[in-house]
Amino acid sequence: MNVTTKIGVLVASALAISLLVQVFYLFPEIRSREFGLQRVRNQAAADSIASEVRELQDSIRYGLERLAGMPMIRSMDANQQEAVLSIATGAWPGFATVSVGVADVHGTVTCLKSRGRAAVAAEGGAAGVDISERDYFRRCVSTSEVYYSDPFQDDVAGLTVAAISAPIRGDDGTTIGVIFAEIPLETMTGVIESYPLDEFEGVYMVDREGVVIAHSAKDLTELHGGPLSMDYSEYSVVQDLAGGRSGVREYEYDGKTYLASYMVVGASGWGIVFQEPLDIIMAKSNILPNFIFGISAAMFVTGVLVALVFARQIANPIRKLVEYARKVERGDYKAGLEVRGRDEIADVSSAIKSMVQQMVSMQEKELAAIVNSMKDGLITLDGKRRITRLNHSMEQMLGVKTADVLNKSPSELESDPRLLPLARLVQTESPEEEVVLTEPYERVVKVHSSELRGGEDKGVGEVKVVLDVTKEAELDQMKSDFIANTSHELRTPLHSIRGFVRLMLDGKVRDAETQREFLGIIDEQSQHLSNLVSGILDTAAMGTGEMIFERQPVTMNEVIEKAVVKLRNMAEDKEVAIEADAPRTLPTIEGDPEKLEQVVTNLVHNAIKFSQKGGKVVVTASAENRSLVVQVIDQGSGIPAGAIPLVFQKFYKVHGSMPWGGGGTGLGLYIVKQIVEAHGGQIWVKSKRGEGSTFGFRLPLSDDHENQEEGG
Ligand code: ADP
Repeated sequence: MNVTTKIGVLVASALAISLLVQVFYLFPEIRSREFGLQRVRNQAAADSIASEVRELQDSIRYGLERLAGMPMIRSMDANQQEAVLSIATGAWPGFATVSVGVADVHGTVTCLKSRGRAAVAAEGGAAGVDISERDYFRRCVSTSEVYYSDPFQDDVAGLTVAAISAPIRGDDGTTIGVIFAEIPLETMTGVIESYPLDEFEGVYMVDREGVVIAHSAKDLTELHGGPLSMDYSEYSVVQDLAGGRSGVREYEYDGKTYLASYMVVGASGWGIVFQEPLDIIMAKSNILPNFIFGISAAMFVTGVLVALVFARQIANPIRKLVEYARKVERGDYKAGLEVRGRDEIADVSSAIKSMVQQMVSMQEKELAAIVNSMKDGLITLDGKRRITRLNHSMEQMLGVKTADVLNKSPSELESDPRLLPLARLVQTESPEEEVVLTEPYERVVKVHSSELRGGEDKGVGEVKVVLDVTKEAELDQMKSDFIANTSHELRTPLHSIRGFVRLMLDGKVRDAETQREFLGIIDEQSQHLSNLVSGILDTAAMGTGEMIFERQPVTMNEVIEKAVVKLRNMAEDKEVAIEADAPRTLPTIEGDPEKLEQVVTNLVHNAIKFSQKGGKVVVTASAENRSLVVQVIDQGSGIPAGAIPLVFQKFYKVHGSMPWGGGGTGLGLYIVKQIVEAHGGQIWVKSKRGEGSTFGFRLPLSDDHENQEEGG
């Protein structure tokens, strides 16, 4: 469940709970109050109608009582009574039609005055009419109280009327007559017709006998042929009224339940019944709860919608943050994250973003430092084989700048001749491949390629480590050259020795002179072999650093002297003059006397060897610029210009410099150079073909001597 749904559900549940509380607790409460209000309203309606009818009756009663107390009425003189009644009926308030009459104690009408519809019919010959049998006369005389009659048909006036009668008392208090008023029933019931009723509400009025005298839903004269033909006396409500009780009661009629509010109308004993179907009352009582429920439901829907909108607004940045985190997890550190607003989520988002950026830049710095400290070259490529990084070693190796090649594809690199070597490295396919580069200078490199894997182990590029193996290749070459040379050099003298020995063993050389000559050659060749072997041993010792120098103060003229003495015989044999020009005052140097003697011997030996008969070899030594310089000068064959830079290399011999192969090892000058350099000195050669050579070396003077010199 995502955040949006969760918030939506949360708000919906809260609203639903409030709705349930309303439905189960509040609504029944409101409805029962509403129901109560409806009852009270109906009762009030019944009461109000009853009051109006009662007021009407009472106003007539009071009018009659006032007239009954008047002397002119009490005189029982028809003329006097007529004068009063004329005025009274004319001024009688409130009714269009009314008849007021007086009868003596025997029931004989003495005077009758009418107004409105009743007037014409009633007045003619009214005097003398006997009303002793009439209910309102009899009850009034017998009780000597005011009496309200039920409605009856007045045949004289042709109207349904109700009468009210009041006793006229003589001076002694005895009843001497009756004054009465007949009022048309419609005057009394008009209030019901004019009462504003709802569709389902109904009001009716009954007299003391339970006869309906007015009904809001019925036109009594038309429906039943006469207004007094509808008898409700059996109804419980009407029976209550007949017993003088007002109240509220539910009753069943025609399969429907009604609520009746009923009210007795004053002293007349009539009743007003206000009735309404119970379901309508219930429906009215439901209006308010339904309204509240409707509003609550609308608020519920609105609330949930608003909550969802808000939840989306909250959840959206969180979703973006999660997407960003996933991208970073997959290695996409350049992924963007848009931060909007200023809420807590925005704060968290920007904190995470800057954290990732800082981490990336720290990692980048660390990585750059590691990569750039590598001696080997490094190239990284993205998924489309475009260059994403070169380290310093790679830049130096190829003479290019990362900025010039960044994001370039192999085809783009190929189009630039300067970048061709890089293109060749980028295009290597196998995990390990050797490439010979010719630009910017010749070298052999080994390229190790491996795939770069990002998140979910997907290939995101390639990394190539480039090792410069030129030296190793050269070394290999040198080793094989060395072995080839050594074996060749060893084989030549061995062949010659074996050849001469075999000749002599076979007894083919008989004369002693030739034998001596051959033995001489064998001796010379074995000497050469011995030189060769010690030369090879020295060379090997030089290569492994095993040559030991025993340093001590050395007097150079002594060293030169020894070498010259050693070679004097050889010089004489070759008829070459040899001369040493080394002053005894030469300062000493720090070094190994034997090794230095080997140096001088070697140089002088070469000088004699390459001199012609009658030539001259001079060895000089002098101190100059805090160093001692020794030179061996000959007038021999000299060295061709092209060979001069090579003479100090291992096994190098100038081609054709000696009449036959037995001459030299090609190791002498190499060893000489190594010894001089081990003493901190330098060696050089100046030579011209046919004019002779000068080999010289310089050795630093010992500190002692410098101190002496400074002291002196
Ligand atoms: P080798 O034992 O063959 O003399 P070296 O290393 O001593 O070997 O000398 C290398 C080569 O240098 C010789 O073969 C020779 O051709 C040349 N060379 C050395 N010294 C002289 C010299 N004084 N005059 C002419 N050529 C020389």
